[in-house]
Amino acid sequence: MICPECLTEYREGVDRCADCGEKLVDHIEETLSSQLVSLTMTTDAGLLSALADRLERAGVPYVIEAGTALPLLDDRPIDGPQPWNARVWVLDALHERAQEILERLQRGDASTTEMSGPFPGVH
Ligand SMILES: [Zn+2]
Repeated sequence: MICPECLTEYREGVDRCADCGEKLVDHIEETLSSQLVSLTMTTDAGLLSALADRLERAGVPYVIEAGTALPLLDDRPIDGPQPWNARVWVLDALHERAQEILERLQRGDASTTEMSGPFPGVH
């Protein structure tokens, strides 16, 4: 067991760090990946690149999974390539902010990938 905050290792059976009171985890990797939450799924590559651009400028860490076999990530069988699809993950702590960015993008730019025009609601 290990504390995700100060990285102190504890023996099995302890569930909180004596120093910081953090809940202990088995592996640090698990903590990092569990901090990602799904933001959206899209088949719109234009929206995806605009979203990635906005998230980057807003300082929101994100992960994009994209391809034609996304169901395999959920252990669902496929019998060949599926339609292209992308899934966007963001850091748990910034999910709300990312959601706002996504909604603004969808409201102001639902049908076009045009990036040069004015965006209502974006300042
Ligand atoms: Zn600690």
